[in-house]
Amino acid sequence: MYKYFIFILCFVYWSVQINGQTILTPFERSNGKQTATYDEIIDFYKQLSNKFSSVQIMQDAPLSADAQYPLSTVIFNGKHLGNDTVVTILINNGIHAGEPDGIDACMMLMRDAATGKVKIPDNIVLVVIPVFNIGGVLNRTNYSRANQAGPESYGFRGNWQNLDLNRDFIKLDAPETHSLESIFHIFKTDIFIDNHVSDGADYQHIMTLLATQHDKLGGETGAFMNDVFVPLVYKDMKKRGYDLVPYVNDFRTTPDNGWTEFYDPPRFSSGYAALSHIMAFVPETHMLKPFDQRVKATYELMCSFINIASVHAKEIKSARKNDIKTTLGQLEFPLSWKVDTSKFAMINFKGYEAGYKASNVSGMLRLYYDHKKPFTKQVPFYNYFVPDKMVTAPQYYVIQQGWKEVISRLSVNHVKFVQMQNDTTITLSVYRIEKYETQNHPYEKHYQHYNVSVTKHTETIHLIKGDYLIPTQQEAKRYLVETLEPTGPDGFFAWNFFDAILQEKEYYSDYVFEDVAAQMLEKNADLRKLLDDQKLKDTVFAKDGRAQLDFVYRHSPYYEPEHMRYPIFRID
Ligand SMILES: [Zn+2]
Repeated sequence: MYKYFIFILCFVYWSVQINGQTILTPFERSNGKQTATYDEIIDFYKQLSNKFSSVQIMQDAPLSADAQYPLSTVIFNGKHLGNDTVVTILINNGIHAGEPDGIDACMMLMRDAATGKVKIPDNIVLVVIPVFNIGGVLNRTNYSRANQAGPESYGFRGNWQNLDLNRDFIKLDAPETHSLESIFHIFKTDIFIDNHVSDGADYQHIMTLLATQHDKLGGETGAFMNDVFVPLVYKDMKKRGYDLVPYVNDFRTTPDNGWTEFYDPPRFSSGYAALSHIMAFVPETHMLKPFDQRVKATYELMCSFINIASVHAKEIKSARKNDIKTTLGQLEFPLSWKVDTSKFAMINFKGYEAGYKASNVSGMLRLYYDHKKPFTKQVPFYNYFVPDKMVTAPQYYVIQQGWKEVISRLSVNHVKFVQMQNDTTITLSVYRIEKYETQNHPYEKHYQHYNVSVTKHTETIHLIKGDYLIPTQQEAKRYLVETLEPTGPDGFFAWNFFDAILQEKEYYSDYVFEDVAAQMLEKNADLRKLLDDQKLKDTVFAKDGRAQLDFVYRHSPYYEPEHMRYPIFRID
């Protein structure tokens, strides 16, 4: 074991020296066939940071990961951090560790930036997460990406808890995602890039680009991204030899008649970034293209982002600043969006003709793409979305201190609180959960709720010292509304954080409560009328003695107010 360790050290030393001080990556040493292991990645960046003062590697708390290895962040031009005119680009790699293209591309990019081969302008701070899903990268395999052309071996999609980290940005089940959200805020990210490899249809493009949905990003930033930034990236990448196409979001049919843009709610990294008015991109290289081509395309795309961001730094900074300010005055917020099929962009799609032939497995017809029949044509891309469900933001949300899991997630997102100094009783706006449905199967460790409907009323609530008042007049306003409103499809209620309120804790014995209920009806004419009206409205109810007794119980002071009462209150 010791001898083996010495050999490894010598090999690293040799590889540095033999190339005249150029530190080569495992990708380069294998002629584009291999991706770096976790140890190789970290060793490489440590060597870079030892050799070049422009590169810093950070492995400090709170940057922890679930596999007991620190989550690392590598920074270029770090000395310019905090400067108001500087654009911070955060690049995340290996969130799906079986899709390692960005890992190897960024190793070369950071080295080339350090040696000056690639010029990173002074108004760009580059923050790279060398590998995000550390548990996944350590779980190396040759098979988990059945339809991917290399590398020779690679990590697994799930982390140590078998979570898909790119669904974790609201629920935050994984410590890695907690860390990444801290990184977003610590570095005041302006542009976020999350490198992936696609699945799905076959076509000629090596690189596809998913931009966060521009209407949903909204404001000046959404318009700038869609009208200026993305077209410039397409133009620049064409010059670099890559025809981009939007992420081919079509998994049921062939894409030759166009497709609808991928809708990225905040559970995804790009949708999460959009909550903070950050331009976000998910490059998806095509899985059937050889690994070396995919990595080179990713490298060029990162360079393209850097150059265009540098030229347009002023517009990027000003758009985001204005959007944060505008959002403070915004009253109505969309919680969900739907595609507007009346509008679309036409895009240049380079595909392959699809056909059907008999399957050698089942004998049934199967799809295939004919590489001898490439085509280029204009297809519609439905990339306009309109708000679906709207909600009005309150002045404050009020949350009792017992909901610690929610409070900790707000803290990660730099939400500002005021804690009550004394016990008090106060009238607040309160939601009651009237109806909801729950998924039958777990999705990323949760049985999500959907189709949630609520009623709203005012109620006197007793708060105690230490409970939280959360003003919505803060930078995190959109995050607060989308996570704390109970009807939000990606809110904390949907993700099961408040399931305890859905179950009654106390109840009654029928034979005892019969007499209490009868007395109540005798003394309370309004309650009697309510019961009689319900019997007239509902004939099944009119014949159900048990249901009627329960109706009286639920309209009596004995019924616990906490049941179905959404525990985040509002000051409107
Ligand atoms: Zn992926």
